[in-house]
Amino acid sequence: MIPSNTEPLRVDLGERSYPIHIGSGLLSRLGSLIQNLVPSKRIIIVTDETVHGLYGDALANALSGYTTHIIVRPAGEAQKSMAGLESVLEAMFKAGLDRSDLLLAFGGGVIGDLAGFAASIYKRGIPFVQIPTTLLSQVDSSVGGKTAINNEFGKNLIGAFYQPKAVIADTDLLSTLSVRDLKAGYAEVLKYGLLGDRKFFEWLDVEGGKRLLGLDPDALSKAIFISCQTKARIVAADERESGQRALLNLGHSFAHALELDAGYDGDLLHGEAVSAGMDMAFSFSVQAGYCPAEDAAKLSKHLEKLDMPRIPTLGERLSDPDKLTRFMGQDKKNEAGKITLILAHAIGDAFVQKAVPDEDVKNFLTTLSENGL
Ligand code: NAD
Ligand code: MG
Repeated sequence: MIPSNTEPLRVDLGERSYPIHIGSGLLSRLGSLIQNLVPSKRIIIVTDETVHGLYGDALANALSGYTTHIIVRPAGEAQKSMAGLESVLEAMFKAGLDRSDLLLAFGGGVIGDLAGFAASIYKRGIPFVQIPTTLLSQVDSSVGGKTAINNEFGKNLIGAFYQPKAVIADTDLLSTLSVRDLKAGYAEVLKYGLLGDRKFFEWLDVEGGKRLLGLDPDALSKAIFISCQTKARIVAADERESGQRALLNLGHSFAHALELDAGYDGDLLHGEAVSAGMDMAFSFSVQAGYCPAEDAAKLSKHLEKLDMPRIPTLGERLSDPDKLTRFMGQDKKNEAGKITLILAHAIGDAFVQKAVPDEDVKNFLTTLSENGL
């Protein structure tokens, strides 16, 4: 199917269902896309300095018929904190918002997670709309209703499931993204092919990946559409992650250990860790006898072709298998202290494996560190 720009996707969650609009030129049509969602015509925009500098005027033009307030936060993960949250809430109180008003999250995953959480707790919840501006947020964080901030105990530990009223993904906004952020988002796109859609992977491998990283608008729209469609289907079936939603964490257990080791200061982006983490999950699946070696090799080759992070590019990051195994033991997905991994029978066929022995993970990481250094 050729995805159309005018027909939105839907996330099916009963009375909390919402549309995802995807395509070029959507920002200029924002006023009409949200007109039924904000009876008061009062909007508070939460954004970061970078996005505000690039697109603040365009957004203001698109909302000329509304009364707007704006909160501009510095860019970066550090905003997903109690201090960041307090600033957003304070601005909302000062603006005197109530439940007939709307919060617009205008930025990447950091702004979406922070502003979405603020919307969920302000006066027990006001409506919010996501306008994701990074590839990662367009294919992943803006859809599904997970909102959160971090604290010293870890990432995303304080938060809520809180669905937006709409998601508006304008592909034009991605043209200003850094190559590094574009590739980090691409890792999550690739994830949808690897976890359940071999045909999508084949398209990405043959032409889609290269076109997408070259910002080809049709390839972007198609990839974002298929990614959101997969995520919407999984979220509709399992909103609170009691079952198959865990598949969306393919590569993420390894990624979280790498991220914890690197610290959250931008040395290793989440998507970069996911890219290498998926390579690791496939390699583990081969070693455990679940997946043919050709499939893992095909994935590695794909990552290499697009110059994406993968096992051989991790180098020193693999040098301490004991530490990485310990970090994997701290993952939120674990149950009763046992490691849960998302593994694969093949490209396009992932499954959840609970209670993986620490020893198996450590042996695997030890082999990688010996081969990889
Ligand atoms: P981000 O929001 O920090 O954006 C990355 C950088 O790109 C920032 O510096 C930002 O200012 C800049 N930027 C944003 N839009 C731009 C544009 N159009 N042009 C140029 N620069 C632009 O990070 P991200 O990668 O979008 O999101 C990462 C966050 O998302 C993490 O905090 C992660 O935990 C969260 N996340 C949440 C979920 C979820 O389900 N809620 C899922 C995945 C990730
Ligand atoms: Mg992710």
